[in-house]
Parts: sequence; C-alpha cells; structure tokens
Amino acid sequence: VKTLVLPATLERALAQGHPWVYRDHLPRDFQARTGDWVRARAGRWSGFGLHDAEGALALRVFSAKGIPDADWVGERVRAAWDLRAPIRARGDTDTYRWLNGEGDFLPGIVVDLYGDYAVLVTDSPAVEPLVPWVVAALGAVRPLAGILWRQRDPREEGDRRLSVLVGGAPPERLVVRERGLSFVVSLEAGQKTGLFLDQRENRCTVETLAAGRRVLNLFSYTGGFSLYAARGGARETTSVDLSKGATRAAEQSFEASGLAGEGHRFVAADVFEFLEAENASASRHDLVVCDPPSFARSQQQLEQAERAYVRVNTAALRVVEDGGLLASSSCTARVGPAAFQRCLAEAAARAGRRLQILHDAGHALDHPIALGHPEGRYLKFIVARVLRPA
Ligand code: SAH
Repeated sequence: VKTLVLPATLERALAQGHPWVYRDHLPRDFQARTGDWVRARAGRWSGFGLHDAEGALALRVFSAKGIPDADWVGERVRAAWDLRAPIRARGDTDTYRWLNGEGDFLPGIVVDLYGDYAVLVTDSPAVEPLVPWVVAALGAVRPLAGILWRQRDPREEGDRRLSVLVGGAPPERLVVRERGLSFVVSLEAGQKTGLFLDQRENRCTVETLAAGRRVLNLFSYTGGFSLYAARGGARETTSVDLSKGATRAAEQSFEASGLAGEGHRFVAADVFEFLEAENASASRHDLVVCDPPSFARSQQQLEQAERAYVRVNTAALRVVEDGGLLASSSCTARVGPAAFQRCLAEAAARAGRRLQILHDAGHALDHPIALGHPEGRYLKFIVARVLRPA
C-alpha cells in the first residue's frame, strides 16, 4: 500500500481517534484512487484508511493495526449489534440504528434496521469496497427480508441512488414498531433512511411531559413526537410539516397505533407562516416541540444557521403558554451544544421570556459517538420551562 505522510500537527487528533483527514492536509503530490487503502503517518501515529480522490474528506481511518478484511468488518457489525441488545430486550422496538458509522468505528457506513429490512447508507464511493463485507455480516447476524442501499456522493447534492442490494424491496408502506407505537414508513420515499430514529429517547421524554397539555409539534415529519405525546395523555396535538406525504403518514401512524381521535390535527404548512397566524389569533400551546431540519451544511453557513435557530425558536416561544414547555432540537453538527444554548437564550430575549432548562440531551445508545470525533455529536435536545419575566 501507499504511504501517506501527514503533518505532525495531526498526530494528537488521530491518536485520540479522529477518523478523518481533510484534503488540504494531504501533500500536493500524493496520488491514489478513490477506494484505495492507504497507510498514513502523522508524527508517531500511523493507521490505515480508505482514500477518496475527490471529496473534501480525503481519508477515512479504520484501523491502527492493519488493513481491514471481511472478519474485521464482521466484528464491528457484530459488536454494534451486541451494543443494541438493551433496545431489543424491551421487546417493543424493531426499528433502530444498527451501525452508526464513525461512532461504531466503521467510518462512512450507516445501517438502520426497520423490522425485517435494513437500509445501508454509504457516505462516499470511497467506502463502497466494504459494502459486500458489511452485507455478509448483517445477514450472518440477523437474517433480513431485504437490504436497501443509499449511495451518497459528497460531490452531488442529496442521495444519489437507492437500490435493493439483497432480498426483496420493502412494501411501499412498511409498519414498524418503536416503543410499542406503530409507525407507517416508506423506506424509499422517506427522508433520512425512513424515520428520524435518533430522536427515539427524546420522543419518550416528551411522552412523560405531555399529560393534559395542548401539544404543538413543529417540523413534525411523520408525527413521531405527536404519537408519543398522544400516548402520554396530551389533551390535543397539532402536527405541522411542509410535506403533505409526511403529514399523511403521521395520520396513518396515529390510526395504526390506535391513537386517532378528534384532538389530533395534522397541518401541511410552512412552520413560520403557521406560527405567525397562531400568534396573530393569540392561540397558545402548553408544550411546543421544535425539531427543524439541519440549517447548515458548511462552516460558511454557520452564522446563517444560528440566525435560523434564533428566528424559529423566537416564533415558537411566542405561542407557548406562560409556564409551558419548549422542547427544542438541533441536528446541525456545526452548531455545538453551547452555541445552541446561546441561540435559545437570544430567542428568549427577543420573545420576552425567561427559560429554565429542565432536560438537556443528545444521542441515544444506538447513535454512539467516538470520543475523538466531535463532529459525530450533532443532536441537541433541550426541554425548558417558559416564563414571563417577573
Ligand atoms: N421531528 C421529526 C423529524 C423532523 S425532520 C421526527 O421526530 O420524526 C424536519 C422536517 O421539517 C421535515 O419533515 C421537513 O419536511 C420539515 N420542514 C422543513 N422546512 C419546513 C418549513 N419551513 N415548514 C414546515 N416544515 C418544514
């Protein structure tokens, strides 16, 4: 294999387990193809990674010891499966993240389980050589009815291709179970791999806080937070999302979960317009969930993202009843936990409210984060009580 000599300044991060090397750290004359194994050195550190000739990430590091083979990859897949045993042990959940890329020490590769189906995501063509080994390991650990493959390419916007790798295509509307609730999901048409599995434990938190409350779920997608709120005894739920397909799926999941009823509304609308109208008519809610899409893809968009968090949370706070709750989330990795709290503080100032943080959370067990890889910690979830200044 080719040896790649990196600046010694990278030694510490790599030794601490950071699995990425950006292109601007590579010597100009270094040449290898996408998907080639490379041995990299930085000071006294050395490791083996897959090279990407075009993306901003030039190297994903897998092992300090040698070039991974099928057995090595199989061990990562099995270790990830074992880590999720507590989720399976409850017996009420058949959808969760089986493999979380960097967080499970297989950079660039994610696997989400949906009942008897799995969706495998590759972040770049550079990691595609590992796919056959991952697929073999998945099937050996847990036989599947089908495996879908979402191939991402950092050079292109969005998801490049979706194909059936193994077995059959899933039904257009698959019903999966999360904490005993039924979710109607489309693995092919849905966002992410179908559901936002990363919010499961945070949805549980909302369930415990919902009793007797009027709940407003902003950016509701397929209604996850609303379903939990309804089961938790919410007096009413209103789910707002731009996507008609998502709000329809939310309605279907309410029916499938036996929770459908008059108190549950599904609104296909722009959240900002919806909140303006609510505020104008002085409508108030006791618990507002705000889980917008990621606002920044690059460092340049960071300021813009922070402004967007301030704006949406200001508008959300204006419709919270005095003494009510705001459950606010951010999935933008570049806006860290401290920055997100600053956004909420600024939103509170603009809305003329005081906030008391009651709960501050992030990722659950099935979305582990490698400690040396802070970029893996993208999810923030804060529950705050909303008060008028005394
Ligand atoms: N809370 C959800 C996930 C939300 S993902 C869950 O737990 O499953 C973000 C959602 O915001 C997407 O469904 C997207 O359709 C929606 N969205 C994006 N911009 C929007 C806007 N301006 N108004 C309403 N919904 C929007």
